[in-house]
Amino acid sequence: MPDTSRGWSPFVGVVYGVREMGSTEYRYVGLTTKTVSRRKSEHFAAAHRGRKSPFGDWLRAHPDREAAYFHSLELVLSEELSDLGAAESRWIAKLREEGNRLLNLNEGGLGNHGYTWTEEQRAAASIRHTGRRRLNVPTGPDHPSWGTRRSDETRARMSEQRKGMNSGRANPNFGRFGAEHPSFGRRLSPEIRQRLSEQKRGERNPNFGKVMSEEGRNKRSDALKGRPMPSSVRSAHTRHHTNKGVFKDTCKHCLDDQRSQANEGNGND
Ligand SMILES: [Zn+2]
Repeated sequence: MPDTSRGWSPFVGVVYGVREMGSTEYRYVGLTTKTVSRRKSEHFAAAHRGRKSPFGDWLRAHPDREAAYFHSLELVLSEELSDLGAAESRWIAKLREEGNRLLNLNEGGLGNHGYTWTEEQRAAASIRHTGRRRLNVPTGPDHPSWGTRRSDETRARMSEQRKGMNSGRANPNFGRFGAEHPSFGRRLSPEIRQRLSEQKRGERNPNFGKVMSEEGRNKRSDALKGRPMPSSVRSAHTRHHTNKGVFKDTCKHCLDDQRSQANEGNGND
């Protein structure tokens, strides 16, 4: 913990990234006022002591320390400690946005470096965060709660508390249609659509390589019994037109797709 009292000398910190040797994907971003290699040793020591965190698990899965590549992303020169935290937050946001599955449990900044916030800072942060959605949390085995299960009492209590929370008039979007709906007219740019698409392809898809169990298949089959398939015009369009490369000018969805493709690239967003 650096000295934060007045009159301290300009302060150098490093934002570092961690990748598996040979991979271009970042798995962790951190901040240190020491050297990156010293910080790496500390991380491994904490993992060895059994630190319970996704990154701790990841480090334990890389007993060969050379395979975990820690390197500097940015040298931060500032007298303000908060600048260091801000630089770390920027890197976390940027790398997450670019599709790196960071194991960081939060958005970075000073909250996780032992810095105690004043009441004023907490109040200001609270206002900044109100209504903001949580950043990507790792999924699958990387999720901190992977493999754990809430007790039956907790489950029952949560179920009771949440019942009807989003149904009918309780839903914040109840009765909001057309221009009143928050998603009305919202169109992602072709670049973002492309990136989101790539982020869910192949081994990055949550269902990649998964095969449903016999039991699961039967359950699903029973649940769908008696329902005509495809279940909607939209699904029929996807199955018989999109997936087969067929265009029908009598199909509303074919025409919609054609229109949105024509709009792409001419700055209609
Ligand atoms: Zn169609």
